[in-house]
Order: sequence, then structure tokens, then C-alpha cells
Amino acid sequence: MTNISKMYDSEDGKLIRNHRTCPKCGPSYFLADHYDRSTCGRCGYTVFKRKGKKGAAKVARRRRTPRKRTKSN
Ligand SMILES: [Zn+2]
Repeated sequence: MTNISKMYDSEDGKLIRNHRTCPKCGPSYFLADHYDRSTCGRCGYTVFKRKGKKGAAKVARRRRTPRKRTKSN
């Protein structure tokens, strides 16, 4: 169960939303927060988070070239 009160923050009588909402389904539908994106569980709307640093998402992956094992028998 998600505690809805945690999703809102009230400040000076104004309601502030901490979470993103789905533009397709309406403000009552929150997007599920993932580390790199937010998705709507209802329609599948996805917003990718962009961090200020360009190329931060790029992680250089070095592939190990698999060695072929030669059987000795
Ligand atoms: Zn939606």
C-alpha cells in the first residue's frame, strides 16, 4: 500500500506534488518512479529522466572477449 499523504506536500495551504503525474490519465495517476524513468502503470506512459550531465547515462562497458577453451583431450 502506498501512503498517499507522502506524495503530497502542503505548503501555505497549497498542495505541492512531489511525484510526477500522468498527462494522459490525469493528475490522479502517479507515475511509478524508477531510477532513470517514470512510468504510468495504467497507460504505459514513460518519461525518461535526464540528468544535467550529458553522457552520464553512458557507461562504458567493456566486453570481455570470451576465450575459447580448447579441450586438451
Ligand atoms: Zn497514464
